[in-house]
Amino acid sequence: MKEYPVQRAAVLKEKPDPNTLVFGKTFTDHMFIMDYTAGQGWHDGRIVPYGPISLEPSAMVFHYAQEVFEGLKAYRNPQGQVQLFRPMENVKRINSSCDRMCIPQLPEEDTLAAIEQLVRLEADWVPSAPGTSLYIRPFIIATTPSLGVHAAHNYIFCIITCPVGAYYAEGINPVKIYVENEDVRAVRGGTGYTKCGGNYAASIRAGERAEENGYAQVLWLDGVHREYIEEVGSMNVMFQIGDTVVTPKLTGSVLPGITRKSCIELMRSWGLKVEERLITAKELFEAGANGTLKEAWGTGTAAVVSPIGEMGWEDKHVVVNAGKIGPLAQRLYDTLTGIQWGTQPDPHNWVIKL
Ligand SMILES: *Cc1c(COP(=O)(O)O)cnc(C)c1O
Repeated sequence: MKEYPVQRAAVLKEKPDPNTLVFGKTFTDHMFIMDYTAGQGWHDGRIVPYGPISLEPSAMVFHYAQEVFEGLKAYRNPQGQVQLFRPMENVKRINSSCDRMCIPQLPEEDTLAAIEQLVRLEADWVPSAPGTSLYIRPFIIATTPSLGVHAAHNYIFCIITCPVGAYYAEGINPVKIYVENEDVRAVRGGTGYTKCGGNYAASIRAGERAEENGYAQVLWLDGVHREYIEEVGSMNVMFQIGDTVVTPKLTGSVLPGITRKSCIELMRSWGLKVEERLITAKELFEAGANGTLKEAWGTGTAAVVSPIGEMGWEDKHVVVNAGKIGPLAQRLYDTLTGIQWGTQPDPHNWVIKL
C-alpha cells in the first residue's frame, strides 16, 4: 500500500472535550494534500500540518464551483482499535462526482491509502466516548487562476478530519419535516447524484424557510413534476408503508447514500420487502391519513438514521408512529451503529480496521 511523506506539526493541539464538540469546528493536527497538473496527473500527495491553503482570487473554484467532496467517519471499537465503514464506497463515489464535474479521476487504491494513513496518524484524535467519531472530509477544488468557463487544469485534493460528538446526545428525537413546493435541490441531468458544494448552496434557502416555520428539515420533491419525493434535508429517505419499505429510486437527482445502500442490504437480509421506486407526496400523505404509513426516517453518515415524527405539506399534516421512533428505524440504527463502532458482528465485511 502507498505510503505518503509526512511533515509533522511542530506543536500538537490540545484534544477537545468530546462532550462539548460542535460539528465541524475543531480540526486535527494534520491534513492530506495532493496536486493535479494537466499533463502530469495527480502528484505530490503528502501529509502536512493542518493549515490555510493559499489560492489566487481568480482560482476557478471561487467562480464556477468546480468542487466535489465526501464525508465518512472513523470509529473507535471496544478493543480500542480505529475502524472505517465501507470507505471504498466513498472513494468510488467521489470519482463518480468527479466524472460529472469534469474533475480528473483519483487513483482509487492510493486514495483509500491516503485516508487510512491520515487517520492512522491522527488516531489519538478518534474519541472513545459513546457515539463520538472522527469525521473525515475529502474534497477537491479547481485552482487554475482563470475566469474562462472550462474545466480547470489544476486541482487540489485535500482530506481534513475533525472529532465529532454524539449526534444523539439527548436521545433520538424524531424530527418535523416540511414538503418544499418552490425550490428544488436537483434535477435529472443536473448534479443531484454528486456530492458537490453547489447542491448545498442551492438548498440553503428552503432549509432556512423550513426552520422559520418550525420544521427541522425539508422534504424535497423532484424538480420536473414536483410530485415525487427525493430526499429529506441532506439525507436519503425511507418509508414503511404496510409491510413494505419504500425509498426513492436513484433517478439521477437523488444522492446514492452509502447509509441508504447499507440499510437496504440489511433489511433485505432480514427478509423485509424493500422497493426502490418513485413515490409521490400524494401517496405518502394518503398513507399517513389512512394509517398504512408505519414509519419514516432519513439516512446519512452523520445521523445514521433520523426518524421523522411529523410531516407538513400545504394544509396537510401527518404524525408518524405517534411522533416516536419506530421498531424498524430503531433496529437499523442499532445494527448499523453496532457494526460501525464494533459492538456487533460485521457479517457483510463492511468494516476496515486500521
Ligand atoms: C451525503 C448525502 C447523503 C447521505 O449519504 P451517506 O453516504 O449515507 O452519508 C444523502 N443526501 C445528500 C444530498 C448527501 O449529500
